[in-house]
Amino acid sequence: MTDATTTKKPSASSRKWLLTQNSQLRAEGIFNWPLPAFAGRLDDGRTYNTCPEAGACQKLCYARVGSYRFSNVLAAHQRNLKMILDTPQEWEQQMAAELQHKRYRDKWIRLHDSGDFFSDAYLSAWLRIMRGAPEGVRFYCYTKSVDRFRRLVEPDPPANFLWCYSLGGTQDHLLDLEKERHAEVFPGTEELEEAGYSDQTESDLLAVLGPERVGIPANRIPHLLKRQGKESFGSLQRALDAQLAEKKQRAADRAFQLAT
Ligand code: SF4
Repeated sequence: MTDATTTKKPSASSRKWLLTQNSQLRAEGIFNWPLPAFAGRLDDGRTYNTCPEAGACQKLCYARVGSYRFSNVLAAHQRNLKMILDTPQEWEQQMAAELQHKRYRDKWIRLHDSGDFFSDAYLSAWLRIMRGAPEGVRFYCYTKSVDRFRRLVEPDPPANFLWCYSLGGTQDHLLDLEKERHAEVFPGTEELEEAGYSDQTESDLLAVLGPERVGIPANRIPHLLKRQGKESFGSLQRALDAQLAEKKQRAADRAFQLAT
C-alpha cells in the first residue's frame, strides 16, 4: 500500500451489516467479508494490493473481471478496505460487535471470496475477532499468505477457524503438497480428477471440511479459460518459479564472470 497525497479518514461504517452474502454463498448460508482483489487505486488516490502473495493466479483471477468490477460491487469492496486502513480499531470493534448477533449463530463466515490477508496487523485483528466470537460462529478462508500463517496462525490457531492454502501464489514452494490441505484450480473436472483432487463444487465448505486435496474447476470465463489452457494454477506458478530461478542464476553467473 502507498500513502495518498490527500488521505481521507472516514469514520467507521454506519451501514447495518458489515458481512454480506453473494448468491453462491447465500445458498449455503455462508456470510462473507470481501476485499477488492489484488491491486487497485482508491478514490482518494491511494494504491493498494490486497493479495501481496498472488503469483500466477493474478492473471486468471475471477475476482478481477465480470461482476466484481461492477462499479457498485468494487466500491463496496473498497469501502471494506478503507475501513480497515483508516479506522482499524473501529472496524475491529464493529465487526466483533456484529458477530454477537443471532443471525450468525451456527453459521460460517468466509474471509475473502476476493482479496487475502495483506498484512500481519490485519490477520492479527481477525484472530482477535475470532477468539472473541460467540460459540457457534465459525470462520474459514483460502489463503496464499503461507508465511504469515506459519508465523501467526499455525502455532496457536483459534478453535473456530479453518483454512485452506491455495496454489498460484509466490509462496507455493513453502507448502508440502503431500501433507498439507491445499486447493488447486484446474481447467475442468476431468483434469481435476485425473490429478487426484476432490471436487469442491458441491459446497464451498469442502475446502476445509472435505478431503485435503481440494480441486476447483476454473470459473467459466472464456478469456480466462483460454489463458489458463490445460494448466492448473499450481503448475503455472511452478513454471514462473523456474523462470525466476533461471533468471537469478544467469544474473549470478554474469556477476561471477565480471568479478573473475
Ligand atoms: S489471491 Fe485470489 S483474489 Fe487475489 S489475485 Fe489471486 S485469485 Fe485473485
